Amino acid sequence: MSEELRPAYKRILLKLSGETLMGDQEYGIDPRVIGRLAREVTELSRIGVEVAIVIGGGNIFRGAGLAEAGMDRVTADHMGMLATVMNGLAIQDALERLGKFCRVMSAIKINQVCEDYIRRRAVRHLEKGRIVVFAAGTGSPFFTTDTAASLRAIEINADIMIKATKVDGVYDSDPFKNPNAVRYERLTYEEALSKHLGVMDATALVMCRDNNIPLRVMNIFNEGDLMRLVTGEPIGTLVERG
Ligand code: UDP
Repeated sequence: MSEELRPAYKRILLKLSGETLMGDQEYGIDPRVIGRLAREVTELSRIGVEVAIVIGGGNIFRGAGLAEAGMDRVTADHMGMLATVMNGLAIQDALERLGKFCRVMSAIKINQVCEDYIRRRAVRHLEKGRIVVFAAGTGSPFFTTDTAASLRAIEINADIMIKATKVDGVYDSDPFKNPNAVRYERLTYEEALSKHLGVMDATALVMCRDNNIPLRVMNIFNEGDLMRLVTGEPIGTLVERG
């Protein structure tokens, strides 16, 4: 990769949903997909970007789905949060196989497996060039990892939050169902909330809005887009304060 690449952001918070680890599978983790993600993230780090990741768990368990099937919701959410820890360990492993130092920090104490989340320690890891993976969401049931991503982005003073999805931005209707769906280049948080565009849940959107964190929604499966975004290209949809 060219030496001329200059980061547009010093510190980013990348939200990866569990689904982004599945590839074409129905469940779990595709080692090829996680390997490619790790390479792309390592490249960002190589050009000097501090990278924190919040990982979801939807490729393994989602609390709401388990609760619909009859499980107690809080127990189901605990399982969902533990699923994110498993994904975090897989990302850590993929990064370390590339020689990149990484720390998984969990919002639930499970410190024989990974570190407890301590904000100051997380920031120190980032300053030292380590990639930090935040797992177990917020540590509380009834929240999502999108909300955890907003929270951590604010706590670590990230310059931008990037929501990595399977779609190349936010559309006015579902692009998989409507061939005439139009992609937004830019949106305000108010529009995202009032138009119910499904960008993130309302809690996550409001947290970003109130704390003035810009958000970009992008397709993580477009290889190279993550680097393009981080070096300042207008990839995906920008959501910001009006
Ligand atoms: N979860 C939770 N509290 C949080 C974050 C997540 O209880 O702060 C649980 C919840 O059950 C959720 C699951 O963990 O369904 C996995 O997270 P999420 O659905 O956000 O993952 P993603 O859709 O990003 O893969």
